[in-house]
Amino acid sequence: MRDFLLDVKQPARYVGGEWNVIRKDPGDVQVKFAMCFPDAYEIGMSHLGSKILYHEINRRNDALCERVFCPWPDMEKQLREHGQPLASLENGLALRDFDVVGFTLQYELTFANILTMLDLGGIPLRSRDRHDALPLVVAGGPCAFNPEPLASFIDAFALGEGEEVVHDIVDIVARHKALGSSRRDLLLDLASLQGVYVPELYEVTYLPDYRIDHVTPVAPGVPATVTKRVVRDLEALDYPVFPVVPFIDVVHDRAMVEVFRGCTRGCRFCQAGAIYRPVRERNLKTVTDLASRTLGSTGYSEISLTSLSSGDYSRIEDAIDCLLAEHARDRVGVSLPSLRVDAFSVGLADRVQQVRRTGLTFAPEAGTQRLRDVINKNVTEQEILNAATAAFEGGWGLIKLYFMIGLPTETEEDIRGIASLSRELVSLSQRVRGNPARITVSVASFVPKSHTPFQWEPQDSVQVIEEKQALLGSLLRHRSIRFDWHDARTSFVEAAFARGDRRLDAPLEMAWRMGARFDGWSEMFDFDRWQRAFADTGVDPRFYANRRREYDEVLPWDHASAGLSKEWLIEEHKKARQGVVTRDCRNDACTACGVCPATGAATIIAKGGGS
Ligand code: SF4
Repeated sequence: MRDFLLDVKQPARYVGGEWNVIRKDPGDVQVKFAMCFPDAYEIGMSHLGSKILYHEINRRNDALCERVFCPWPDMEKQLREHGQPLASLENGLALRDFDVVGFTLQYELTFANILTMLDLGGIPLRSRDRHDALPLVVAGGPCAFNPEPLASFIDAFALGEGEEVVHDIVDIVARHKALGSSRRDLLLDLASLQGVYVPELYEVTYLPDYRIDHVTPVAPGVPATVTKRVVRDLEALDYPVFPVVPFIDVVHDRAMVEVFRGCTRGCRFCQAGAIYRPVRERNLKTVTDLASRTLGSTGYSEISLTSLSSGDYSRIEDAIDCLLAEHARDRVGVSLPSLRVDAFSVGLADRVQQVRRTGLTFAPEAGTQRLRDVINKNVTEQEILNAATAAFEGGWGLIKLYFMIGLPTETEEDIRGIASLSRELVSLSQRVRGNPARITVSVASFVPKSHTPFQWEPQDSVQVIEEKQALLGSLLRHRSIRFDWHDARTSFVEAAFARGDRRLDAPLEMAWRMGARFDGWSEMFDFDRWQRAFADTGVDPRFYANRRREYDEVLPWDHASAGLSKEWLIEEHKKARQGVVTRDCRNDACTACGVCPATGAATIIAKGGGS
């Protein structure tokens, strides 16, 4: 690789050797695990889940874990021209020389990159073509909750949180390697683990109208439904306080401590809220200890307190106070991603502004109270104005607002509501600050996701979304407002895969063979290519993206359970259509979503007590 390293963009993506890297002798371990992130190094190195699993596997004496990222097309071209395989950063091992090749699935538009990585790594694309000596290919992450579009390419999926199941998988692989067992025996053994889904052990049959008829296990002992894994007690987990520190700028280049996991706010479009239930907090003392140790081992000057909604951490203000007191001398900043509007208090504004005033992000999601009630975004117009007032009084002059268009029941009034709320915030800032703040209005398109109350809802067509974007663009013309929107065609392909079934393997492979790479990057996405791939394989993506599903239809992911009961999801869907909200079970009664009994998690697990 040295011969052509300087011929590619960002060579540092491919060299490894970073601070805190773990490099073991492959000859000293039983199981070699490749941690594959199907996107560029800069994205993958920002992903906390990968850091956690890298740490979990490497703390075993009998295993090693090495990182592999998807090479940018210029590097892919060089590797192919020089006949070199895709290899890990730590020891330069080819992908095919690992025992386990594990992918994290964060976004449907990275799926083509998985095929690039398998192919460059010397592994047949399809599971059925892999012989006993080749690595086991596993995958986890949010997109594993609808595993079907990748069912032909992945040997086993791990549903839910990975810290515990990854050890079970490594144990089984080690045992089978020592026994020299067949691939089939290995897969059967894996399928017996809670949270592990082996697609080739299930048969899918179809109705004449193209919908699914049945999904049936085809081997004895294989469960009809695979239920996700949940870590019951975050306090008992080891944490990666020695994360690898990249040499180049990456998307989130800072120390990170996860303060809690899960979110029970219950936004009805949100898959993360659905699949990571229930809420489990880390103790305040643990949070501050982990933060100090991570800062000490990395030299970072910023610590991010992460979660799905960091302002909801019960000890958030105390955590910031402790960190500021302890690290003020080193000018360490504290950042809080994912702040909810109603969790943003004046107290929080005061604290955060002491260290960081780079811009605040709020996500009202919808422009009217009616639609916010439909999606169960339990935030009122007044709370948004209060939060914005606190921010402007705290000195912020730049606020980013996230909205979604194409939500179920949306009307033109809701689109107009986005514009009037944004304009109202500009006027408010003028009154509070004496001059207008800059407001960035970022508008995504609704993508119905599996395991959410909106999983039955259709996505608006590309044309309708583009008309709504044009209307909003005209309404948001204002010198203090910047309008960003997502490409409706990207969201359409995302929606097809998000609710797709096994028959999407053909267009995925076709699009990849036609050159699909890094589709999540706007400059790389080619909608015409995807349309040709769908047409050439006889698959209509609108069947998956734009069609309303009935409650009695067998959904492609029905056999992959996030622990939520279907009755609860249907009830939530009906309440959405009536504009009736559901309260957060953290503060109100349990609403019987089903996760706690299904996963064995205690009802609400320890708040971040301690001093
Ligand atoms: S089962 Fe009840 S307490 Fe547990 S996450 Fe669901 S609603 Fe909340």
